[in-house]
Amino acid sequence: MSSALVEALRAGLPADAVLTDPDVTSSYAHDMASFCDAGAPAVVVLPRTVEQVQHVMRTATALRVPVVPQGARTGLSGGANASDGCVVVSLVKMDRILEISPVDRIAVVEPGVVNATLSRAVAEHGLAYPPDPSSWEMCTIGGNIGTASGGLCCVKYGVTAEYVLGLDVVLADGRLLRTGRRTAKGVAGYDLTRLFVGSEGSLGIVVRAVLALKPRPPRQLVLAAEFASAAAACDAVCAVMAKGHLPSLLELMDRTTIRAVNSLAHMGLPETTEALLLAAFDTPDPAADLAAVGALCEAAGATQVVPAEDAAESELLLQARRLSLTALEAVKGTTMIDDVCVPRSRLGDLLDGVERIAEKYALTIGVCAHAGDGNTHPTVCFDAADPDESRRARESFDEIMALGLDLGGTITGEHGVGVLKKEWLARELGPVGVEMQRAVKAAFDPHHLLNPGKLF
Ligand SMILES: Cc1cc2nc3c(=O)[nH]c(=O)nc-3n(C[C@H](O)[C@H](O)[C@H](O)COP(=O)(O)OP(=O)(O)OC[C@H]3O[C@@H](n4cnc5c(N)ncnc54)[C@H](O)[C@@H]3O)c2cc1C
Repeated sequence: MSSALVEALRAGLPADAVLTDPDVTSSYAHDMASFCDAGAPAVVVLPRTVEQVQHVMRTATALRVPVVPQGARTGLSGGANASDGCVVVSLVKMDRILEISPVDRIAVVEPGVVNATLSRAVAEHGLAYPPDPSSWEMCTIGGNIGTASGGLCCVKYGVTAEYVLGLDVVLADGRLLRTGRRTAKGVAGYDLTRLFVGSEGSLGIVVRAVLALKPRPPRQLVLAAEFASAAAACDAVCAVMAKGHLPSLLELMDRTTIRAVNSLAHMGLPETTEALLLAAFDTPDPAADLAAVGALCEAAGATQVVPAEDAAESELLLQARRLSLTALEAVKGTTMIDDVCVPRSRLGDLLDGVERIAEKYALTIGVCAHAGDGNTHPTVCFDAADPDESRRARESFDEIMALGLDLGGTITGEHGVGVLKKEWLARELGPVGVEMQRAVKAAFDPHHLLNPGKLF
């Protein structure tokens, strides 16, 4: 079977685009999530054209072989993990920016374009592609679409879904579907574009995307506010939002995260504080907006409010925030990263609950958060070689999701369901929700070949 598969794939792909050496293919087995099963791919293909992706899908459907689409494998839910005997389709070689139109304010890109590469390219035209996951120097637009990625600036500019106008998608049987538009408006038919955003490679393979761009905002200035408790920092977040401010980011790091970042990168963040809030404005007068937010932080109990002196200092603070997950991983070698998003008004309750859960399981759980969105990343740090600690890590990870649902939130704000949270999807959606989602899956992928074992 496997050799017939490889032979059939080679008939429509260049020789160097079909990898079969198990030492090589095994390196494509999983993304960056812990505790997620991954199988051994039969073959990895690296197509460069839409026609080559169509050939792969026609072959896979004819031979009934599962297919796992992959971008840069920075995912944090096991969504890009291989299943046994599958064809991994890595889109990283389809990495061309096909068009940037300042008039239409769009970019047309292939899926393997790295997020930061696109951001820099459109900046040369005075434009911005806002969604900015902390992994932006590595992750691809295809993966961002697959997971409906967020990032730091989403509190003001919104998430990936708001920027995807149209898609070309290779379907399970190899047909090419074009969804959406390149116009500023459009309501023709069901919004299939939106359906694909966050579908985790389970409905088709994105081979081209039309993305909306914004005028490039002025450079942002950042303020750091220190708090003696996480609760006070959450009160400040609520005050900022209730007063109608629109920061370009509003991020939180707790004490564990601050210490982890200092120990990894010697950033000189204040280690005695319980919570650090970073706020930024990219408005015409950011200093005035920061002063108003600083006053709100002080009213909420901030012990210190320090505006960055200039753009370089602002960038340093953001770098510290972007390093948070990597730094927390260094604490004990392994992490399980929750992605619970709650209504902002319940942020304090969530952080309070996470602290109780950490005590109950005797574990270190650091929290960094896109606080302005209510999207938190309680990160369980543990030693994977210790079975008891690993068990407690998984239980605490699950308990945090249960808490998030109890508070009216969702199990995932931006990382997706993948393998890691699939038992939890049914709890969030309920039986009717799951039934309808399965019906959609069956309509696009009747033989269940696309990214099997994910989501459901
Ligand atoms: C240090 C670090 C920080 C992070 N910070 C953030 C953050 O701030 N915000 C955030 O949202 N995420 C964050 N992430 C998670 C991750 O980077 C994102 O989920 C990202 O969008 C994944 O992109 P990728 O190219 O690595 O995709 P992959 O991990 O390879 O794939 C992700 C999913 O998309 C599917 N997929 C990939 N390409 C295609 C395609 N062309 N067609 C169809 N399906 C496809 C895959 O099957 C999989 O289900 C972070 C990860 C790390 C390691």
